[in-house]
Amino acid sequence: MRTLDDLGDVSGQRGLVRVDFNVPLKDGEVTDDARIRAALPTIEELREKGARLLLVSHLGRPKDREPEFSLAPVAEYLADLVGTQVALAPDLDSVPDGDVVMLENIRFEPGETKNDPELAQRLGALADFYVNDAFGAAHRAHASTVGVVEHVGNSAAGRLLQREVETLTGILADPGRPLVAIVGGAKVTDKIGVIDAFLEVADTILIGGAMSYPFFRSQGHEVGGSLCEAEGVEPAARALEQGAGKLRLPVDHVLGKEFSADAEPITSDEIDVPEDLMGLDIGPKTAELYAAEIKAAGTVFWNGPMGAFELAPFAAGTRAVAEAVAATDAVTVVGGGDSAAALAQFGLDDQITHMSTGGGASLQLLEGKTLPGLEVLQ
Ligand code: AMP
Repeated sequence: MRTLDDLGDVSGQRGLVRVDFNVPLKDGEVTDDARIRAALPTIEELREKGARLLLVSHLGRPKDREPEFSLAPVAEYLADLVGTQVALAPDLDSVPDGDVVMLENIRFEPGETKNDPELAQRLGALADFYVNDAFGAAHRAHASTVGVVEHVGNSAAGRLLQREVETLTGILADPGRPLVAIVGGAKVTDKIGVIDAFLEVADTILIGGAMSYPFFRSQGHEVGGSLCEAEGVEPAARALEQGAGKLRLPVDHVLGKEFSADAEPITSDEIDVPEDLMGLDIGPKTAELYAAEIKAAGTVFWNGPMGAFELAPFAAGTRAVAEAVAATDAVTVVGGGDSAAALAQFGLDDQITHMSTGGGASLQLLEGKTLPGLEVLQ
């Protein structure tokens, strides 16, 4: 992987920097700036080297240049962070000169997600060199992440992309032991690739969330009204067979009548779920067992909540795991998405060694798949 160290002298040159500023906005204000801050090391390093920057990002999934998908609030926010003006270029034909310029949402261009060669070429013509620092978009082959590269002579991964790749591949290649993977969330089929990868290298895999139920069903248990992905049962059975001794399933759980913050939580040691109830969280015994594994770990990877953590009566399991991950002396790596949201909800997100900025991308990388945006930077 080429890094900023391989770019050579970029003084006076214009660099097109693909960043991931796909941040949540509310009423035109940035409500979570983690992704913007995560790109600052690259932006600052390139500016110190004398480069002028054209920042390119997507925001959401616009269909037709809807104003709520404008990057204008992000440009304003970044200007405050870097202490310089950040002009917003409305399109590729009107990019002003300036030290830091941001292009309007690249998905306003219909060719972006199609990796359209003409758009890629027009993007490339705007820059002397290219840097991709958008880990959260590196698993997509789009014009601004893949196509553009062949039209710019000099390209590299930014510091965030570099750190993401080094950390995530590092925990598979040479982890401090024991390596404990915590995998939760809704669906087995979303996570089976990463479970398979961890079956090879991890010492222990802790399963939680709704995806426990296909595992239980494969063992012949009743799952009642629990969210239980039918297509997940077969992969779950196979993982259980391969992972004997490594895979841990919940030993108790918290049931409720419905997926609602008003549902009364019912703790149960019985794995079979009655027909009129659904499993909505891991139980206290499971939380304690999982916390002990996390405490004794050398490396912890976590992706996916242990239950319906958005609902107060069913958040305790995810909270217990989040607290254990925050407190352990192990190296802790958290895949983006809901686990990151849970840690933020509990105010523990600053106690993690590496919080990935890309949910889908981090899973793909751990599954051993190449990321298109990374491949072109070799
Ligand atoms: P994922 O996107 O696959 O990580 O899944 C996260 C979502 O799964 C969250 O919105 C949780 O509310 C939901 N979830 C986790 N466990 C359960 C459960 N036992 N029942 C229903 N939903 C759940």
